[in-house]
Amino acid sequence: MVPTPIGNLLDITYRSINILKNVDYIVSENIKHTLILLKYFSIKNKLLSLNICNEKKKKNKYIDMLNNGKNIAIVSKAGTPVINDPGYLLVKYAYSNNIRVVPLPGACAAITALSASGLKTNQFCYEGFLPKKKKSCEKKIYSLCRELRTIILYESPKRLINTITLIKQIMGSKRKITVAKEITKKWEKIKKGTTKEILSTIKNDTNWTKGEITILISGKKKNKNNIVSSKILNTFNILKKETKKSTAIKITAKIFGFNKNILYNNVINKKSNEVD
Ligand code: SAM
Repeated sequence: MVPTPIGNLLDITYRSINILKNVDYIVSENIKHTLILLKYFSIKNKLLSLNICNEKKKKNKYIDMLNNGKNIAIVSKAGTPVINDPGYLLVKYAYSNNIRVVPLPGACAAITALSASGLKTNQFCYEGFLPKKKKSCEKKIYSLCRELRTIILYESPKRLINTITLIKQIMGSKRKITVAKEITKKWEKIKKGTTKEILSTIKNDTNWTKGEITILISGKKKNKNNIVSSKILNTFNILKKETKKSTAIKITAKIFGFNKNILYNNVINKKSNEVD
């Protein structure tokens, strides 16, 4: 598994160049693109194709070649293969054929953007691209609303304004986000701010609607003060009418990212007027 640069060709590693020179075949998502890279580093090798359209069919051929002792390097158009790129089926079948899979470290837009995001990096989740249809996209963002970890998304520049607008509507205008455009390239731009600030920035500068984009969303802040707000109590009261008290507590705690036991002590033990 050989990562290739996500823009700046100098981001390839010595080891990747060495492997690309010495394997029997390079299996590439985009032969034209890979040829530019090979030419730049004076690498001459045989190229074969593997993309989302032919992966199911081609994997058997490549597994046969590997079983016959050939070495194959897998590269995607850019970045780490298999990360929102083809190759997963081939890797999966390699394992079921006892073929060794060797990962090389290297460029990946998600991790590169995260490192410069200014958002928490101790825990994060990678969500790839959001669904294209508006309803499914909204549903997905709602489902990420209570996520405590930093969320990494890939996005097309054409959808950037719409996506940030939805994130603002659903997660609030104060939620912190970082938008990273064209990382490692000439027009690299990284901007951190609230959803409201970022939306205004990208609406006022059409350059943001061109190039490759990675979005990072700050995780939801935990309710540190342990204050059971009236909003939380109202939600509990509504749920309590539909289900058992303990279930209502559990669901309310989940919705608000609140500690279940604190909620229990506040709500059940104190038998607050607001609740009963
Ligand atoms: N496998 C690749 C990786 O390891 O990063 C990702 C492939 S995915 C099909 C391509 C998406 O990654 C782009 O649409 C964009 O969202 C993000 N991306 C790739 N290069 C980027 C760059 N230079 N700057 C910002 N985002 C980038």
